[in-house]
Formats: sequence, C-alpha cells, structure tokens
Amino acid sequence: MKKENTTLRALRQYSGYNPKYFPLCVLQTIFKNASFFFSLWMTAKIVDSLYSGMEKRELYLLVVAALTGILFIRSVAAILDRQVETALEVLENHEAEAFYRKALGLDYDKIENPDIRQIRRKIEENMHINMYGVINMRENLLELMDSLANLAFSAVLFAEMLSLIAAAPFRWLGLILLAALIASVAGGFLSRLHGNKKGAAYWDEVGTQMLKENRIGQGYNVSGMDNRIYRQQPIIDELYRKYSLEHMKVMMNGWWMRFSFLEAPSAVFSWLTTGASYLIICLYCTLGAFPVGSVIKYVGYLRKLTEGIQTLLDTFGRVKENEPFLGDYLRFFDIENDMYQGGLAVEKRSDKRFDISFQNVSFRYAGSDDFALRDINLDLRSGERLAVVGMNGSGKTTFVKLLCRLYDPTEGEILMNDFNIRKYDYRQYLDIFSVVFQDYNLLAVPLGNNVSCAAAWNQEKAERLLNEVGFGKRYGEMPRGLETPVYKEFDSDGVELSGGESQKVALARALYRDTPFIILDEPTAALDPIAEAEIYARFDEIVGDKTAIYISHRLSSCQLCDRILVFHEGRIVQSGTHQELLSDETGKYYELWHAQAQYYA
Ligand code: ADP
Repeated sequence: MKKENTTLRALRQYSGYNPKYFPLCVLQTIFKNASFFFSLWMTAKIVDSLYSGMEKRELYLLVVAALTGILFIRSVAAILDRQVETALEVLENHEAEAFYRKALGLDYDKIENPDIRQIRRKIEENMHINMYGVINMRENLLELMDSLANLAFSAVLFAEMLSLIAAAPFRWLGLILLAALIASVAGGFLSRLHGNKKGAAYWDEVGTQMLKENRIGQGYNVSGMDNRIYRQQPIIDELYRKYSLEHMKVMMNGWWMRFSFLEAPSAVFSWLTTGASYLIICLYCTLGAFPVGSVIKYVGYLRKLTEGIQTLLDTFGRVKENEPFLGDYLRFFDIENDMYQGGLAVEKRSDKRFDISFQNVSFRYAGSDDFALRDINLDLRSGERLAVVGMNGSGKTTFVKLLCRLYDPTEGEILMNDFNIRKYDYRQYLDIFSVVFQDYNLLAVPLGNNVSCAAAWNQEKAERLLNEVGFGKRYGEMPRGLETPVYKEFDSDGVELSGGESQKVALARALYRDTPFIILDEPTAALDPIAEAEIYARFDEIVGDKTAIYISHRLSSCQLCDRILVFHEGRIVQSGTHQELLSDETGKYYELWHAQAQYYA
C-alpha cells in the first residue's frame, strides 16, 4: 500500500477537529480576493467611460453600481471573518484536547518512556514557540488558498488581455509576455524543487537548535530561588552562549543554501516578468489594443499575478520545510497502547477479600540494563498492614507500580485470587487501589472535588476524613469549607497549601475512594514528626478493614504493622514483625533501625 503523504495525512486529521473551518476559509479567501479584483475592474471601467465621453447619468449609475458591489462584497467578507475566527477557536480547542487525551490515554510505561516524553516535548515546544507543525501547516494552507484565488481571478483578466492582444498588430510581442510568465513560474518552481529537500533538513536542524535556546530562555529547571542562592547565572549564560553559537553556525551554513538556491532565482524571474509586462501593456495601449483604463486594470492584476506565483512557490517550500515537524506530530498519534487490557470482571466483594501473590517477579525499566526488582515472592493477605522499607532506589516504588499494574513484570507473574492480574479488566483492577504516590497531584478545583474526585461530594464523609488525617484545624479556618478552591490558578480566593497540608488532602482523597487496598508511598514525608505520629497512631482505625501498604523511611512509623518487608537492591531481603527483624543483628533492618534510632529514641 502506498504511504500517504505526511502533510496530507496531518491535514486530514487536523481539519477533522472542526470540519467547518477550512471551507469557511475558502469562502473568506474568495470574497477577499473578489473585493480587490472587482474594485480594480470597476475603476478601469469608470476611467474608460470618462475617456469615451459617456453620459453623466450612466456614469453616476456605474459609480453607484461599483460602490454597491464593493459594499456587498466587503460586508460578506466581514461576516465571514467573524465566522472563521470562531471556527478557528473551536478547531484549536479540539486539537489541544485530542493531543492531551492522547498523551493521558497512553499506557503508563509509555507516558514514562524517555523517548516518548522527548517527542511530546518537541511537538509542544515547536508548535508554541517556533510555530512549526500543525499551526505552520494551517498558515501555509491559507496562503495557498489566497494565492490560488488570486491566480484564478488573474487568469480571467489575463485571458481577456491576451484575446485583445491577439487582435492587435505586433501580436508576437504578446507571445513574449506569455513566454516570460511561463519561464518565471517554471524557473521559480525548479529552483524551489532543488532547494526543498535541503531546506526541510535545514529547518529541522534550526528548529531543534532553537528549542535548546528557548528552553534556557524559559528557565528550564531553573528556579528563581536556587538561582539566587547558588548564583547559577554564569552556568546558564555559558549554556546560552554555547547554544547560540551552535545556532549561528547552523544558520551560517544554511545562509548560502537558502538565499542563493531558494530565493534568488524566483525573485529574479518575478522581477523580470513585472518589468516585461509593464512594458508590453503600455505598448499595446499606445497601439490601441485596449483603452487607457485597462492599463490600470492589467498592471494591477499582473502585479497580483506575480505576487501570487511567488507566494505559491514560497508556500510549497514551506510545506516541505514543515514536513519533519508534522512527521513528529503524527508519530505521536501513531503510538499504540499494547498493554493487555483483560476481560475478566473483578468480583465486587463486600468482605474486600482480594489475595495477591507475587511469583518470581522481576522487572526492568525500558532502556535500563539493570533489574529494578529481582525474584520477588510474596503473598499479600487481605486486611493486613504491611510496611515496606529500604534505602533509596531499593525498588519500593517500583514494587507498588507493579502491584497496581502501571507496569507488567518483565519476568514472573502476579496473581489475584488465583488469576494472573493481566486477565482482569484493567479499569476494574485499578479500581481496587487507592494510592498516594510521592509525586501526587491535587487539582486547582474546590477542596470537595479534590477529596471526592467527582463533581459532587458527601459533605459528612469528606469532612470526617479531612479531620481524621489531621487537616481539621486548617479546614476550620476556611469559611467556604469544601467549596474552597485549591490553588489560585482559576480563582484569586483559592488557598495555597503547604507540602504537609496537601499531603493530608491527598490522604483524605485516597481514603474517600474506600477501595479494598490503600497504598501510601511515603505518605508522611512532608509532615512534621508530630503530625506523622498522630496519623500513625490512628492509622489502624482510619484504614479500617482495608489492606494497607505503607512505604516509609521512618522505621519508627512501621512498628505497628503486621509485617515489614525490607527491600535491598531490588530484592526482599527480610520479612517479619518489628521485633522479629530487630532481633537479627546481622540483618539490614537492624542496621537501618540503628541508623535512625538516635532520632526516635
Ligand atoms: P525506591 O522507591 O526504593 O526509592 P524505585 O523503585 O523508585 O526505588 O527505584 C528502583 C530502581 O529503579 C532505581 O535504581 C531507580 O533508579 C530505577 N528507576 C526508577 N524509576 C525508573 C524509571 N522510570 N526508568 C528507569 N529507571 C527507573
């Protein structure tokens, strides 16, 4: 099967975001161009009538007809302008929505995949900073429509002029004009074709280069606070200098190619055509081939004609230049989810009995040589309180991500009630977990929506949970209660929450879902020790009959758990209660505990 042209495919997808937009643009372009040609044509007619001594009454009628026609065309054009503006708004909204939906709908391992992140960032930055990609395609298409409409109107007048010249003496001069025009089009076109391939590669390189500079300009990874304290400016300046120099080099290399091969020949051809046509039109007027008014008309449209041809050629060049950027855009939409979705319904159990078993599970991240998890064997008993401890990078978070099936194991399998978790309907499987991840997010919407994760909330339940997680005092200070907007993005009355406060809201949100499993990945890292102690003291009560898994760095918090798993370098090296683990003086737990004991004596 023949592969569809990148630009055409991108255009098909893009125009689908609002099928009305481009047809409206066609109409708008026709009326815009009609307005110019009609004015020119009527002006020529009026001048001719003046010369030919037309009667006053008829002349007035002609002027009135011209004005009425212009008024009509302009009014329609103005109405179309509004329509096009609105249609563009809709189109852009739908496009942005489709892009973000695609990004959010990707399998989790793809969202985290470094290559896919990079392509997404490239598309967004190219689109919004350098205006390449679909925006560029839209602009090109509008230019193309404009020059085609222009050419179509010119062609009518050109035919009229040629027929008059054909009847006049020295008609061979007309042939020269025609030949010059054709040579201009062909010459310009050939020089474009020659440069297009190089041009596309050139602009791709310039685009990539500009992104690096823009990132620095946007303060990528630069926080104002760090910048001040650590005086990072010289490092940033150095980076900027480096990329500016590289950019300049690319531009200099391309300069010769762009202006000599691409621009110069078509500019020279168009200049020659204009000169030749002025000469010939004036000559034929003096020879009596057409009246003086027609000089205005023909000179005006011939300028438009050469402009149209020039724009047309430029646009073809830009379409080619933009192709690599559209290629990235389509490649992103082409990424397919391949995570097996399963079809088995997850039983709705009022007793929340879901037994999970890890069997020889190992896992390696895409693009990584090392296993993040190795030979994990584990039975999770319904209703137990399990603590997961270990040093940074020992695999605790990865273990949770596998449990929630954000990733599938590289080796081994995970079973739930004796079936591989891959067999369960994916959405339903996810619905049995509530997790507070380390990098959780709250939304800039009212507190109640944040807690319930829905449009409505149960007032009593939400307030009770916020109280239980220790948010009660702060909540009491909010006159609008659950209606209080979180953050100020959409509402200047919004509240900013401290790290500890937002973590408490995230905890309340996890509890509100009332799922069989609750998993807290360092849920108290941002809490002060007193708040943490209070929450842990009540955790048993708060968590109720759910199975709870806590990942914590503070071992003192884990003492009350039924079982503690100790992770080290991707393996579970110990498992047992606090007392059991502590009694093994050669074990990792003993080491970790004594490293921290001084703080929690
Ligand atoms: P912990 O939660 O115990 O701090 P993690 O589970 O986050 O440990 O990490 C385990 C190992 O996997 C580490 O070596 C870490 O660098 C690596 N790792 C974590 N996330 C990714 C990722 N998205 N891509 C590649 N490697 C990762």
